[in-house]
Amino acid sequence: MKEKLEAMLIAAKQALADAVDETALQDVRVRFLGKKGELTAIMKGMGGLSSEERPVVGAVANRVKDELSETFEQRLAVLKQHAIAQKLANEKIDVSLPGRRSLVGSKHPVTLVTEELIEIFSSLGFCVAEGPEVEQDFYNFEALNIPKDHPARDMQDTFYINDEVVLRTHTSPVQIRSMIKQKPPVRVIAPGTVYRRDSDITHSPMFHQIEGFMVDENITFGDLKGILTTFIQECFGKSVGVRFRPSFFPFTEPSAEVDIQCVICGGKGCRVCKNSGWLEILGSGMIDPEVFKSVNYDSERYSGFAFGMGLERIAMLKYGVNDLRLFFENDVRFLRQF
Ligand SMILES: [Zn+2]
Repeated sequence: MKEKLEAMLIAAKQALADAVDETALQDVRVRFLGKKGELTAIMKGMGGLSSEERPVVGAVANRVKDELSETFEQRLAVLKQHAIAQKLANEKIDVSLPGRRSLVGSKHPVTLVTEELIEIFSSLGFCVAEGPEVEQDFYNFEALNIPKDHPARDMQDTFYINDEVVLRTHTSPVQIRSMIKQKPPVRVIAPGTVYRRDSDITHSPMFHQIEGFMVDENITFGDLKGILTTFIQECFGKSVGVRFRPSFFPFTEPSAEVDIQCVICGGKGCRVCKNSGWLEILGSGMIDPEVFKSVNYDSERYSGFAFGMGLERIAMLKYGVNDLRLFFENDVRFLRQF
């Protein structure tokens, strides 16, 4: 039995030395020292020994057990140390790696232009007003002197929700809502989203406009020209040429479209201005007395002017963007440039 115990000790020590990790090591311990392990199995033979042999074998067995336990603990300590070292090596921080830049967003060019225009008009005494995008036919058309079956309705391809409700085709209904709410003098600008059934290189079914109007006693076409010229010079530079062209809108009389000297070629003529040297940027006019009727303003006492422009168009001209669709694709390579 002594020989068996000595042989087991050698085998067990070898197995402990061969164990590569903690789990394998525990397996070895159970195999030799566990309740159903090899040591227990050998000790079962003790009963057949003489009373002289028994204490001798018992002492050997205890020594073998102690030695194995000690070897096990040593090996366990080594493996634990090893595991920690390995973990540290794997998780080592490479301080020479380039840092991760946090992504900073930027404002959309249409937002930038809107903010700039609000600032310019605020400095001229205008307040900002807003209105619903799902609008009643009355505010979008009727009150603006565009009754049903009026040919001017064909000028705008409207999204109808039903006979009385539309997606607003312009920001002009905010003009009506503001005038119903407050009496003159009023100076209001209304930026916002508008909708039309139109989609190609120069048209989007959803786009942005800014509407402005001013009503008081003795407001003349001279005020219109003065305010709009000041705005254009603030926005595009003091030296830019401005011209007013007679036009037609149902809600203004007289009406004028406003052009600026082409910002691309400086007025010499290019592809963008179709060789005319001029770019149309807004529509304007003296508010039609018919409009005043629908908001209960006394057209004998008060007069005023209104204007409206596409914000994408202003952004295109200011930033030299040649395709309207770029504003709606949300390509970060485009948006990051602003
Ligand atoms: Zn040009």
